[in-house]
Amino acid sequence: MLEPLEVIASRSTPHPVLGSAVIESIERGVTVTGAIRFGWEGECRRCLDPVAGEVEADVFEIFQVGAPEDEDDIRELDDDTVDFVPIVRDVVLLSLPLAPLCRSDCPGPDPDRYPAKTAEQLAEEAANAEPTADPRWAALEGLTFDD
Ligand SMILES: [Zn+2]
Repeated sequence: MLEPLEVIASRSTPHPVLGSAVIESIERGVTVTGAIRFGWEGECRRCLDPVAGEVEADVFEIFQVGAPEDEDDIRELDDDTVDFVPIVRDVVLLSLPLAPLCRSDCPGPDPDRYPAKTAEQLAEEAANAEPTADPRWAALEGLTFDD
């Protein structure tokens, strides 16, 4: 059982993290390949209603005796044992949703005043908008030139 982990808008539930892994021998170490599954809960990024879900994430780690210190992808293998807790902890933290939605078309808390728009809608509005003059140049609009 892993203690609940939290990122900006979601946290893992206090239920056990489930998973399986295959450990294979390599030169001076082992590789760990597998997958884990865990539940999460959080708040919708638009309406702040509670949301929950389940994540399945792949696990791949390399453990070696005398792992190079400048190599972040290879963990040190101590006493011929593999500690799964830091692996699972890292994968859970990296897999938690940073900005979850209660549903893909969530209209937000007050859709009449603050309608949620897609990136395409915002780009189309910007392309069709009339260019506005900088107010600091407004005095120049009254300027006329004689030939
Ligand atoms: Zn929502």
